[in-house]
Amino acid sequence: MLLQVDDIRVAYGAIQAVQGISFHIEQGEIVTLIGANGAGKSTTLRTISGLLRPTTGDILYQGKSITKTSPERIVKMGISQVPEGRQIFAGLTVRENLEMGAYTRNDRKEIEHSMERVFSSFPRLKERLKQRGGTLSGGEQQMLAMGRGLMSSPALLLLDEPSMGLAPILVDEIFDIIARINAEGTSILLVEQNAAMALSIASRAYVLETGRIVLEGSANEVMHNPMVRQAYLGE
Ligand code: ATP
Repeated sequence: MLLQVDDIRVAYGAIQAVQGISFHIEQGEIVTLIGANGAGKSTTLRTISGLLRPTTGDILYQGKSITKTSPERIVKMGISQVPEGRQIFAGLTVRENLEMGAYTRNDRKEIEHSMERVFSSFPRLKERLKQRGGTLSGGEQQMLAMGRGLMSSPALLLLDEPSMGLAPILVDEIFDIIARINAEGTSILLVEQNAAMALSIASRAYVLETGRIVLEGSANEVMHNPMVRQAYLGE
């Protein structure tokens, strides 16, 4: 098992955003967490990354607890998060943004090697290396955010709403790239409001509602669940 989240609760002051959830990711999987606005999806990702601490529960990565590990160490161990809303550095060039993703590494050769791999997934970034991040289109900014996340050469990539704000044709392109990154060996935890797209590439899914998992199963089972069809697939 690559990642095991065991009954975590996470609060912002008096607000209980995550109320005891458990799930796991096997090596090589794409697992998706779907749910409405405010369900606790981003909070869950930020807790795995070490940016928030659970009040109870444990998170195991490759069998070791990372519940008290620093965010920087967690990146070094192989978990990288691509945040909601991209959060690229608008004033820095594409190359500089990518280099920020390698901040935990210092082997120049390996960093260049990772950059070449990013270019093979996102050839458009290579064409725009000297351009400032803020001048890229929304789709390109998402590619840059994902490229930056890959620069630490993660075993597990946490993606928070990669389709947000993108035109449908770009959503298709981004999801194709996610599937390809996975096929090349990176396991993925995908948070999405676009349940249809997420379920189309995931192997398993968990449905989160107000901080609790209300349904889990293979992506196929979840896709055919009547509650999911009505609440998340617009039927
Ligand atoms: P979204 O897609 O809108 O990000 P989400 O499923 O990712 O939704 P979270 O962002 O994890 O949901 O939010 C879960 C709950 O925690 C919500 O009730 C939200 O209002 C609350 N919350 C999130 N961030 C904070 C914060 N920094 N301070 C206080 N409450 C917060």
